[in-house]
Amino acid sequence: MNANRAPCAFCKTKNKRCPKNCEFAPYFPAERRASYESANKIFGSNKIKRMMMLAGEADKHMLATSILKEGDAWTNDSMRGGYGEIQNLLQQIELRRAYLRELEEKINDEKEKTRLHL
Ligand SMILES: [Zn+2]
Repeated sequence: MNANRAPCAFCKTKNKRCPKNCEFAPYFPAERRASYESANKIFGSNKIKRMMMLAGEADKHMLATSILKEGDAWTNDSMRGGYGEIQNLLQQIELRRAYLRELEEKINDEKEKTRLHL
């Protein structure tokens, strides 16, 4: 890793020096600082640190991604956060299902027309 890299988002937010082997740098890199700061407002750095310490090594990336996504969700929708994203996705699924039903009806109509012309 570059020795002159920017401090990770965790250390930057805590205003600490980010050591070369910082345990948070792989999960909260400097370029995700805005997402991290939003998540920090929700959870606080102590809780984020505790969650990361309790997670198994295999789960740390998933947990960190989830924490950063939660921060983004609240930045994008300050009333509904992650729940708003879920609602938006459910709405998109419903729209696509309606479109699929429409296409299936057209296909069935065409099949019926073809069958009648035989
Ligand atoms: Zn760090």
